[in-house]
Amino acid sequence: MKATVMFGAGDVRIENVPDAGLVERTDALVRVTRACICGSDLWPYNQMEPSATGQRMGHEFIGVVEAVGADVHAVKTGDLVVAPFAWSDGTCVFCHEGLHTSCLHGGWWARNGIDGGQGEAVRVPQADGTLVALLVGEDDALMPSLLTLSDVLGTGHHAARAARVAPGKTAAVVGDGAVGLCGVIAAKRLGAEQIIILGRHPDRIALAREFGATDVVSARGDEAVERVREITGGLGAHSVLECVGQGESMVTALGIARPGGAVGRVGLPQHEAIPTTMATFFDNVTIGGGPAPARAYIEELLPDVLDGRIEPGRVFDRVVGLDEVPDGYRAMNDREAIKVMVTL
Ligand SMILES: [Zn+2]
Repeated sequence: MKATVMFGAGDVRIENVPDAGLVERTDALVRVTRACICGSDLWPYNQMEPSATGQRMGHEFIGVVEAVGADVHAVKTGDLVVAPFAWSDGTCVFCHEGLHTSCLHGGWWARNGIDGGQGEAVRVPQADGTLVALLVGEDDALMPSLLTLSDVLGTGHHAARAARVAPGKTAAVVGDGAVGLCGVIAAKRLGAEQIIILGRHPDRIALAREFGATDVVSARGDEAVERVREITGGLGAHSVLECVGQGESMVTALGIARPGGAVGRVGLPQHEAIPTTMATFFDNVTIGGGPAPARAYIEELLPDVLDGRIEPGRVFDRVVGLDEVPDGYRAMNDREAIKVMVTL
């Protein structure tokens, strides 16, 4: 079968790889119908050391179940399913606590011999715990929005939850990528009264406004902190969603949180330490977040997607076939596209 393999920075290829197939009794074999490229895929795209064997890619996908192992009962052959960006058993202590990314028997796509989502098919471990059946057709118009359940919508929601967004509160979203835009959707959905988006790309800002952002701050660094303080009566935001992961964005996020506020960080950290420890200590700022347990949020968010109350699929502004995935990486890296969907 064909799948996406990264061989080094800027070197993404579509390669022939061994066919996916059932191994364990708890596996399902899924033929991928939709996948996408993640902002986090751009970190290795810019930094990966050259590798002769390469790294399989992709952790967001929807597909059709083609076969299931003897111990799989929650999904069956023919089901259209969405996979969250980590696989999990759904039964261990952490899964019961809603923290599926810490599953004792779980793991990550495209690592340790597990297939990636940017390919023709995937062996899904722990299929009962991992997959959620979607009761719609394979080419339903909602497919882009349903695909965001695998990562960016759940991740934006996780940022909002970790930042303790609540009705009447002020939320600030650092970053105008697909996760930041989904953070705006999540903040509005959870009742934030004022939603400030920090970003500087006009097309993304326009979409953020349509998703519910009330204020825009396009400055960076100290100037951004000043500007957010101005529009929050000098106090700062109750809830800050850090959706980038760079040192500078984290400094900004911590700098705009008001005393007693909370920062939910979901951008994959590219810095070693959390900055401004003294200032945030004296301001009693809570710092939370991490990889979103996207699996835990699918049931909560799916009805709003199916009813059209939220339209996170609008973050996809480019669609490519599997053979065009390398150019999809380039387009996202060049900020030509917010997020690229792959149709198979
Ligand atoms: Zn588990």
